[in-house]
Amino acid sequence: LITNDDYSELLEIRKKKIGRNLSIGYKDKLKIVKGALQYLYDDKGRTFVDCVNNPSHVGHCHPVVVRKMQHQIATLNTNTRYLNDAITEYAEKLTATLPEKLSVCYFVNSGSEANDLAIRMSRHFTKQKDIIVLDHAYHGTSTVAMEMSPYKFDSKGGSGQMPWIHKAINPDLYRGPYKYGDAEAGEKYAADVQRIIEDLKKEDKAPAVFICETLLGVGGQIPLPENYLKTVYDYVRAAGGVCIADEVQVGFGRIGDHFWGFELQNVVPDIVVLGKPIGNGHPLAAVIVTEEIAEAFNNGLEYFNTFGGNPVSMATGLAVLEVIEKEEMQQHALETGNYLMDGLKALMAKYPIISDVRGHGLFIGAEMVKDKTTMEPAVPEIDIVVEKLKAKGYLLSTDGPLHNVLKIKPPMPFNKQNADEMVELLDIALSEL
Ligand code: PMP
Repeated sequence: LITNDDYSELLEIRKKKIGRNLSIGYKDKLKIVKGALQYLYDDKGRTFVDCVNNPSHVGHCHPVVVRKMQHQIATLNTNTRYLNDAITEYAEKLTATLPEKLSVCYFVNSGSEANDLAIRMSRHFTKQKDIIVLDHAYHGTSTVAMEMSPYKFDSKGGSGQMPWIHKAINPDLYRGPYKYGDAEAGEKYAADVQRIIEDLKKEDKAPAVFICETLLGVGGQIPLPENYLKTVYDYVRAAGGVCIADEVQVGFGRIGDHFWGFELQNVVPDIVVLGKPIGNGHPLAAVIVTEEIAEAFNNGLEYFNTFGGNPVSMATGLAVLEVIEKEEMQQHALETGNYLMDGLKALMAKYPIISDVRGHGLFIGAEMVKDKTTMEPAVPEIDIVVEKLKAKGYLLSTDGPLHNVLKIKPPMPFNKQNADEMVELLDIALSEL
């Protein structure tokens, strides 16, 4: 038993025995030993409100999910070569939440694996290789997912941009060239995707894929401008490409107004990629495609995945859907998110260091700058605020290419009382800067 308070012994063993390029959050490390809904508890008996763990979607250790997983793991867990009711029941319930043409499911074990498979299927379907991504995006940690993640390949230690990867400008209405208030901003940002398509054409190429998140996560908690995806999808489809929506961070009702992020943009993707919240922390992810794409992929080569679609994962997925519906979590996210956003906007009016508050439902970003004209990112101020809130029991984090966006995407049970307290603590932390 390791009991010393600064965890030096534990950190030492970790350094020796666990892969080293994994950072641990916060200056004073946390040892979390228990979770319940939106709360985390550490080994010193302290309670924290979790404001960032979106994979624990319906709440840490939600009792309904835990019970159904326990029952299934005590009954059967095996691969998918045997008939099993759970996998078909889950595929039917999951596709019922999606537009009709997204009808065929492939179950995998992580968002990275799902994106990797989605790319493979798109390449089969289009017979093309090139991929259009958004700048600063992150799509996962497999080799292909890394190749399509500027957030990684452009970073220190990254392997750079592959010739078949093309970066389109981030449609960021706060920091990008086309700003809030520009009614045509969506179309103007979309024109950058068309530029890439035309450049490819000059080399007798066409895009296999356009992929983006339907609200940008690592890119800085950014909702897409109106008409952006509609225009982009038209361009990409006219060039014969497939449109993938990465819903790994934002799906399953988090955004409040809708169940899926792409619905905010009035589009239907050809492929959706699901992860994180789908299994409430259990390693489950999915690729859902149209009939035509599924048929093209079924070309004689078998696709088998040892753990993908196993009965425990399927029971988990079913339980998550059931809880979202029974506890009316989408509506709760809408109300709580709007309430919290109002509170954050009031802080923005009071403190010029907060320069933009944006989001939908319980997917919110607050951008911090030293100066509203120069937009110089308020680092290290944002880190000081995050540490101060942690000391008061609120776990927040930062994101965005400039590390100056407060990232808020809590487990869905996060409530108005939590929102009030968070805003109050932020008020104090900002006044002390
Ligand atoms: N897509 C997006 C948008 C993500 O945020 C992530 C993970 N942060 C992934 C894909 C990869 O998912 P995983 O970590 O489950 O492989």
